[in-house]
Amino acid sequence: MAFTRHDHSGLVYHTSDLLSGVKHAFTTRLGGVSEGMYAALNLRFSCDDARENVIENYRLLCAAIGVDAERAVPTHQLHHDHIRIVTEQDAGKLFCKPRDYEDVDGLITNVPGIPLFIYSADCGITLLHDPVSGCIGAVHSGWRGVALGILPKTAEAMCRTYGAKPENIRVAMGAGIGQCCFETDSDVPDAMRDAIGAAAEPFMERRGEKWHIDLRGINVHRLRKIGISEEQIDLLPLCTACNPDLYWSHRLTGNSRGVQGAVISLGKE
Ligand SMILES: [Zn+2]
Repeated sequence: MAFTRHDHSGLVYHTSDLLSGVKHAFTTRLGGVSEGMYAALNLRFSCDDARENVIENYRLLCAAIGVDAERAVPTHQLHHDHIRIVTEQDAGKLFCKPRDYEDVDGLITNVPGIPLFIYSADCGITLLHDPVSGCIGAVHSGWRGVALGILPKTAEAMCRTYGAKPENIRVAMGAGIGQCCFETDSDVPDAMRDAIGAAAEPFMERRGEKWHIDLRGINVHRLRKIGISEEQIDLLPLCTACNPDLYWSHRLTGNSRGVQGAVISLGKE
């Protein structure tokens, strides 16, 4: 399976062949109306970018892929492992009505027509779909989330809540910081060893005093451990820090940046 790059009048995003049964997109910087450091498809409200620009970016993106921006639901990402079961009452909490929750890094739903949004400026962003039980998920995972196992926990929540089965769940991982650029001190390898023991070692490389960690590799490993095979997982092989023209990278610019993201929505048929 593979990703497809789409260029919709200059708005560039990727889709995964594995998720062909649902409307979805992994966004890039290209195609929105924001300017300066936020140019152009910034999806981040909590910054100096004009709110009306960010809303317009959402509308342009949602129109390009055919989902309803007014019904969209966002995460509130704090690098924890809390997963929200999104219901009809949540529809519109992106910008049409108040978001009455916080501390949510994963979203799941079986309600058609509610786009779920997650965000990244290096962290992993992953979309999930079980076409048999008819449910979807969206997960943000930086290294803390990888150590906490929020991605397998979200897949398990889909099974527990909606009767999904690991052998039916399809998973697509968007661009994130690669092992090439994710240089850390020993705290990150220590967290990975605490989480999965020696199984973490193949995904961690020592270079002098520093470590380079393959976060997406660990996520794939953890999904396989709960019964999701490699054939069910698609991975966009782009590093956010290596591609500043396409992606914002916290590693490169600190907090002076926008965010890209991913969106997924069950159809209404
Ligand atoms: Zn890189």
